[in-house]
Amino acid sequence: MNKISSRAKSISESVTLKLNSLAVKLASEGRDVYNLTAGQLPFAPSEKLVDSMSDCLKELKSFQYSPVAGMIALRKKVLENVESKRQIDLSSFDCVVSNGAKHSLTNTLMGIINPGDEVIVLAPYWISYPSMISLAEGKTVVVESSQDGGFIPLVSDIKKRITKKTKAIIINSPNNPSGVFYPDSWIDELANLLIEHPDITIISDEIYYDLSYGGKYPKYLYQARQELLERTVIIDGISKNIACTGLRIGYMIADKKLTKAISNIQGQTASGANSLIQNALIAFDFTEIKNYLGPINEHLSKNATQLQKVLKDYNLSSLWYGPNSAFYFLIDLTKTNQFKKFDVKNDNSFEICQELIEKKGIVCVPGTDFGVPNTLRISLVLEPERFSQALTILFDYLSK
Ligand code: PLP
Repeated sequence: MNKISSRAKSISESVTLKLNSLAVKLASEGRDVYNLTAGQLPFAPSEKLVDSMSDCLKELKSFQYSPVAGMIALRKKVLENVESKRQIDLSSFDCVVSNGAKHSLTNTLMGIINPGDEVIVLAPYWISYPSMISLAEGKTVVVESSQDGGFIPLVSDIKKRITKKTKAIIINSPNNPSGVFYPDSWIDELANLLIEHPDITIISDEIYYDLSYGGKYPKYLYQARQELLERTVIIDGISKNIACTGLRIGYMIADKKLTKAISNIQGQTASGANSLIQNALIAFDFTEIKNYLGPINEHLSKNATQLQKVLKDYNLSSLWYGPNSAFYFLIDLTKTNQFKKFDVKNDNSFEICQELIEKKGIVCVPGTDFGVPNTLRISLVLEPERFSQALTILFDYLSK
């Protein structure tokens, strides 16, 4: 038998995957399963992008190796698009296009972390950050938050976790899994703190930026204090805002020294990203994204309003913290009747999720993987009628 490296052993199987396979099994047995786990929009991408892809099928370069850092015209377009949306000057920056934002994040961490370096991650955090950090031989330092604080950690708590070994902080706004972005005043406060720590790199995961359905967009640290831009890495891609999770295109934007290093890493491990999709994106008008997402953001906003109403009907309004972006909501189980039969000292989210699937056909993601025990993540993307039915079954169960 082959021997597994300690690096590989440090990566555990996600509990979400285990629950998903249970859900798939029940559905294959004919059970009506409400899947509230979706991390992607269940809609076709913009027709204009599909048309552009089909045109690019006729071009030879769509089938050949692309430049390691991405096609020059696409990189230029990405930089221009981010510049105009975030109102920043990226003229001295560059961009590396990769196989999804996940790949860009892994590349970035590989590019900046030395063994033992610490990376601050704010709970709730996206499942993959700790594994990526440990693959890069770094150490994850978690700063916690609570539902009562709207899942926004205190800047004073972040300050306490900064040490000489802190290499980076990851800020994911809008946030998966809470579905909120950090308030402007919080960003100002954190920006002022980070100014005092010039060696910390800011990894700004902005993958859900366009899915801000509450009528406002997030503010970023480099918008609060421009000086922070030069040590920021912006991460974005097409998975969420053009509903193309399977096409695997993401990118990182940073100073040219770091993008060169990242390009070297990518060149020796993966090569340039998918040529066909890059080619199609060059011809695609990025301002289309706003039109494409218009009805989708309306749909998300409608489901969020329905969720707020259902919580009120079940006397659970204390669970509401006003999600405004991405497409998730975290339920604090400790505030529900169902939780009374469990020990508050343990994390019972997996057991509750398992029971919800087996008895009620509702599939949620336990908060364990997001660093918030005793919570469930639900996704707001189901079509409104089915979403509403799922909420009734879910909160009937949690209220018992
Ligand atoms: N960052 C966050 C917060 C995410 O939720 C995801 C995907 O779910 C990613 C990054 C990765 O996106 P991609 O599909 O582009 O790899």
